[in-house]
Amino acid sequence: MDIKKLLSQMTIEEKASLCSGLGFWHTTPVPRLDIPSIMMTDGPHGIRKELKEGSVANAFGNSAPATCFPPAVTVASAWDRELAYKMGDAIAKEAMELGVTTVLGPGVNIKRNPLCGRNFEYYSEDPFLAGEMAAAFIQGCQANGIGTSIKHYAVNSQEYRRMSISSEIDERALREIYLSAFEKAVKRAQPYTIMASYNLINGEYACENKSILWDILREEWGYNGIVISDWGAVTDRVEGILAGLDLEMPSSGGIRDREIVKAVFTDVLDEDVLDETIERILEYIFKCAKAAKEIEGYKADYNYSHLLARKIATSGAVLLKNQGILPLSKGEDFALIGALAETPRYQGAGSSQINAKKLVTLTDYLKEQGVKFTYAKGYDLKGSGYNLSLFEEAEQLAKTKDKVVLAIGLTPEYEAEGYDRAHLSLPKGQLELVERLCAANKNIVAVLSVGSAVELPWADNPSIKAILNMNLTGEVYGEAVSDIIFGDVNPCGKLSETYPDTLDSILSSKYFGMGPQTVEYRESIFVGYRYFDTAKIPVRYPFGYGLSYTKFKYSNLKLDKAALKDGDTLSVSFDIENIGERKGCEIAQVYVRDIASTHFVASKELKEFAKVELEAGEKQTITVELTRDAFTFYNTKTKSFEVEQGEFEIMVGASSSDIKMKSKLKYECDKVEIEDLRAVVPSYYNLKGVTSIPDAEFSALLGRPLHENIKKKKGELTLNSTLGETDVSLAGKAVKGLVKIVSRFVLGKGAEEVHKQLVASSALDLPLRNIYAMSGGLLSKKSTEGLLAMFNGHSFRGFGRFIAGFFGKDKRKEKVIAKAQKANNSK
Ligand code: BGC
Repeated sequence: MDIKKLLSQMTIEEKASLCSGLGFWHTTPVPRLDIPSIMMTDGPHGIRKELKEGSVANAFGNSAPATCFPPAVTVASAWDRELAYKMGDAIAKEAMELGVTTVLGPGVNIKRNPLCGRNFEYYSEDPFLAGEMAAAFIQGCQANGIGTSIKHYAVNSQEYRRMSISSEIDERALREIYLSAFEKAVKRAQPYTIMASYNLINGEYACENKSILWDILREEWGYNGIVISDWGAVTDRVEGILAGLDLEMPSSGGIRDREIVKAVFTDVLDEDVLDETIERILEYIFKCAKAAKEIEGYKADYNYSHLLARKIATSGAVLLKNQGILPLSKGEDFALIGALAETPRYQGAGSSQINAKKLVTLTDYLKEQGVKFTYAKGYDLKGSGYNLSLFEEAEQLAKTKDKVVLAIGLTPEYEAEGYDRAHLSLPKGQLELVERLCAANKNIVAVLSVGSAVELPWADNPSIKAILNMNLTGEVYGEAVSDIIFGDVNPCGKLSETYPDTLDSILSSKYFGMGPQTVEYRESIFVGYRYFDTAKIPVRYPFGYGLSYTKFKYSNLKLDKAALKDGDTLSVSFDIENIGERKGCEIAQVYVRDIASTHFVASKELKEFAKVELEAGEKQTITVELTRDAFTFYNTKTKSFEVEQGEFEIMVGASSSDIKMKSKLKYECDKVEIEDLRAVVPSYYNLKGVTSIPDAEFSALLGRPLHENIKKKKGELTLNSTLGETDVSLAGKAVKGLVKIVSRFVLGKGAEEVHKQLVASSALDLPLRNIYAMSGGLLSKKSTEGLLAMFNGHSFRGFGRFIAGFFGKDKRKEKVIAKAQKANNSK
């Protein structure tokens, strides 16, 4: 395809039309020039192809059945690049059957704090692990010619006010923690698309952020795909194009087309810049269109996908505690307690929610296998789960059995897109049940289903003999749990995030959520284990931790060099021996510490890992290689990743806090100039026991005053204010109240509570600008400005403008475009 030639034949209007989608999931075609429309859809742990496009009421569950693979939390806990690759490959194959040529995933946002409602969709608190998983997934998917969309770029680690909040972050944390997984995935796997997030970064919308979208992504990392907006993330379309945002999704009903055309004619936007954008979009479209032709009639192997999902789910399960009780033997009769055994929680809610092809519950699977057990529900799945008669029935049962398998976890309302968790507890009813069962039975195996860390205050109770964290298994729940508890599979997963003692023990908890305008990433680079380890704060289970039914011995650490220079590769080798009685996998982690650092650093950082399967008694030598990247930090003075010369420590461990062996080496390179911030940000240099960061220190780290975080008053609202912020005037209060009520009902009668909550919180977080951009021509910009004036207290003037917007030029144009698009859609 001669893209340049095609481009030369396009009118400005046609070019503008290509800059945003058609409907919810397609690119806009140009039939005159045979430019096709291609389809993308969610992602990330399966295909969610809606049966009725773009309808809120149909968004959840009403999609083509597809394999629901384990969400990212579980994939990362398997620490297995090959499995992540295979998952990408299998999802691509299902996309091919469904005619989808780009999958909207993977999600690599850093799990800054366990409260984030979407953590289940993200890999890890550690950028190295997240980047490795993402790169492998993308390679696996794109090997089939099916594109991916790595998301959400960037610093989108909370749901609260996700469309309007500014993530205030210092440059080192941005580069070393929050951009790092994207960087690796881009450099190694070149995802076809990258999805720019809703939020602002240091006061600038991600979708208009030239530094993020252009300077770093394209100039530094060499990205050659397209940047697309998260759905509805565009504020200023022309600014977006200038910054490097290629495709706006979904359709703006033609509004943006006109803005782009006008900008070209008024010389605000240089046509050459627009042409470069179009060239990239065309390349993407034709790449996908080629795939679309080749896959016609393709049939995916859903049995293979299901088996693969089972392998990933068992590999990503983490055995947190086992006092000799697991594995159980299949012959023994036990009590199975917990409603989740019958109605599993196997994925999170929101845009990633797959209509599972073949969901397997634990109760059904055990019955099918002829396993003897007696079941009691134990708690309610709704609300707090509190149900006295269910508690008593479960207690009675527990008293009569030798052992109890207890299926517990977060119920659907706890983890969803659109809002964050309020605390890290399991539902109250489940906690009460645990307490009662512990008094009734001394041999309890707790099987957890959670998408991110929870507090486990009962973990040390002597009646709890084992805790198996399945994370979220996808559709294979029953099979995966059974595989592990009966020992058909030896668990080997390790936590991809820290399980803290309490929410309060996490430094970022004080600065999570925040708002109304900004959220401050005050902990800087000290995220997850980097904080706990450096500040010496105890945790329940550390990052990288997980047990097995066998045991491993580490020995013989060797570094092939005593000193390293730029361009060298360091080989780190060590032996692992399976000293137990059964075959199993061990995940060994290699951490690096900068001993001689004069900038502030974490006490260790993950720089490599290796997974090895060993027969009982077998010993293998593992070798991993470290390059310069493993020793760099982001130097804010020189604006580049550099190494500070001096001594480093290489640590090999079974977890971040179980270091088995260590050794030192020197890094020899030129001395680098470093900003000495010791006097202004002492807490970061000496983090021991630090539980908060003073305003002055964070401000010094940012190099500017902190943003005043105050609620907007009447008269201060803008089109970027959210519906939730409008309650500053009478009109605003009325509309907000109405939105609250209506949003709970739009899904119809039988809707699940989690979806109601999701829609309600998303509606309140919706910026006013989205009302017209996403209304498909229903409201004009003028009418929306009228509403804004009313919310700002100018009732009469605003109302006039609101009404005028229905009859003005704007409105007429929108109607014409909406009609043309509808006709196009139905072709
Ligand atoms: C989510 C994205 C998703 C998109 C399309 C957005 O609200 O943030 O992750 O891919 O919707 O469903």
